[in-house]
Amino acid sequence: MAILVTGGAGYIGSHTCIELLNAGHEIIVVDNFYNSKPDVLKRIRKITQRDFISKEIDIQDKDELEKVFIDHSIEAVIHFAGLKAVGESVQNPLRYYETNVNGTLVLCNLMAKYDVKRMVFSSSATVYGNPDQVPITEDSPLRATNPYGWSKLMVEQILTDLAASDKEWSISSLRYFNPIGAHASGEIGEDPQGIPNNLMPFITQVAIGKMNQLKVFGGNYDTSDGTGVRDYIHVVDLAQGHLRALEKIQKISGFHAYNLGTGKGYSVLEIKEAFEEAAGMKIPYSIVERRPGDIAVCYADPAKAKEELNWEAAKGIKEMCADAWRWQRKSFKG
Ligand code: NAD
Ligand code: UDP
Repeated sequence: MAILVTGGAGYIGSHTCIELLNAGHEIIVVDNFYNSKPDVLKRIRKITQRDFISKEIDIQDKDELEKVFIDHSIEAVIHFAGLKAVGESVQNPLRYYETNVNGTLVLCNLMAKYDVKRMVFSSSATVYGNPDQVPITEDSPLRATNPYGWSKLMVEQILTDLAASDKEWSISSLRYFNPIGAHASGEIGEDPQGIPNNLMPFITQVAIGKMNQLKVFGGNYDTSDGTGVRDYIHVVDLAQGHLRALEKIQKISGFHAYNLGTGKGYSVLEIKEAFEEAAGMKIPYSIVERRPGDIAVCYADPAKAKEELNWEAAKGIKEMCADAWRWQRKSFKG
């Protein structure tokens, strides 16, 4: 029996594949390489010294995806495949709804048809919108402020209704906070196309000389130093959370959402300083206008994941910065 991993060549998916293989699972990776490279799969094999089946398939291609269910015995699905750039989702909402919502519907229909009713879904802290209070618990109000966020909320609603309609379904929706860092080998990490949208890849690209300086979006938020506060979590900790969720869905049924975060918030300037310490260099920066749609503070209450999944983040901000920097240096050289 294998775990089907959609989007397994991507940033979080690739790290999760390593943890799955190291734990002895069989996996099948499906990815259309829209935002990743096939070479990542070779690197996963190299790091783990394990082989696995991988297929270049778009999850919306029902016929090709169905072949995977026909040809293989699948016990559960970890569903990462999707689009994730907030700004792009505002420009091209239909594409986001097609991939994230319709892609999940195609997948769920096949899962139902082939009696595979266990899923771990990649959700996001974005489903809390601008939270009323922090730390954010799973029962906080859900809201969205852009098509990407709506697509995650819509999928959560679909999965909630699906699990309510048939008690055989067991679904964990993992609401990620801000994944950063990379595998300690430096072989895999986050590889954004073009100018990075996210803070850590931007900082590492300034450090390597690809970008001139960090633009800090807003210096007048109601936070300790005026810059935005987020809950950064090491991607390997996040990957391990998927294994705990996988264990959980073997035992219980229904739809359950979990925050995967550390419970601690860091400001933009604190992250910059932690990176400077890890890399032994200064990161030039300037404070510019707030980025539209950004919120001041966002961090998790991760107690439910600890209690019900027996999972908590172990790696601190130093390790996140050191690993992100190792990956950036190694990948820049090729
Ligand atoms: P990523 O872009 O690195 O990985 C997504 C993978 O899915 C890529 O390999 C991409 O090629 C693939 N993919 C995209 N569309 C596909 C399709 N139609 N068919 C098959 N494969 C397809 O992103 P990531 O950071 O690894 O994110 C994984 C999941 O986690 C996404 O669903 C994302 O929305 C969610 N998430 C990410 C973050 C984050 O900060 N990285 C935060 C919260 C939630
Ligand atoms: N940020 C920044 N400069 C950048 C990218 C991000 O100041 O080039 C800030 C952003 O305003 C937020 C934090 O860094 O306060 C994290 O942003 P990111 O895009 O990484 O994640 P988000 O929490 O928005 O999903």
